Amino acid sequence: MDDSYLKEWDAEVISVSKEKFIVLDKTAFYPRGGGVEWDTGTITTDDGTEFKVVYTGKFSGEVSHELDHAGVKKGDMVHCRLDWDRRYLLMRYHTAAHVLSGVFFNEYDLKVTGNQLTIEKGRIDLNMGEMDVDLIKNAIDRSNDLIKKDLSVEIYYLSRTDAENDPVLFKLAMGFPHEIEMIRIVDIKGFDRQADGGCHVKSLSEIGSIEFLNAANKGKDFKRVYFQVQ
Ligand SMILES: [Zn+2]
Repeated sequence: MDDSYLKEWDAEVISVSKEKFIVLDKTAFYPRGGGVEWDTGTITTDDGTEFKVVYTGKFSGEVSHELDHAGVKKGDMVHCRLDWDRRYLLMRYHTAAHVLSGVFFNEYDLKVTGNQLTIEKGRIDLNMGEMDVDLIKNAIDRSNDLIKKDLSVEIYYLSRTDAENDPVLFKLAMGFPHEIEMIRIVDIKGFDRQADGGCHVKSLSEIGSIEFLNAANKGKDFKRVYFQVQ
């Protein structure tokens, strides 16, 4: 939540279920959510045994790590390591999706209503009426212009009251649970702010560039755009 660049850390296993689903006292493995895929990596116990983390999900409010084999016990101290290549690519895709949603919203008055980001490609859904591929390509060009400006990306927290007084923060329409008091903000300086729980690069140049793949008409006010980061 506070350091998207943390790659390794030590943790204690606080529960194990069905032999290979574990909860840690602290974790930087991102659980599948917000349209973004999960982190993978490894954990190593004190005796040097390595376990692969093959999936990370959130269940009943806890981050659960699925291991490739049994053997970890409650109370074990483990060393955790992210598959950084995968995570970093997902960060680039996630920040790219925010740049795109900012451009579509600020310059074309279009809302992104959903997204799905994997290491192969990104997908955003737009509330666009008639399909307009030229507009989509222009928006991607504008996004690449912004990336070249290398704006910084900052993360901070606002109280729920302050955040709710600033509706632009919720334009991705991915509601935040009401028990959350402090809202995490991802701020592309001078351009776009979003309430968001995900991992991001810290400056736009890290994205590289965004390339249009294709667009699909999924219905009235529902157009789907596929892109890649290069
Ligand atoms: Zn996001």
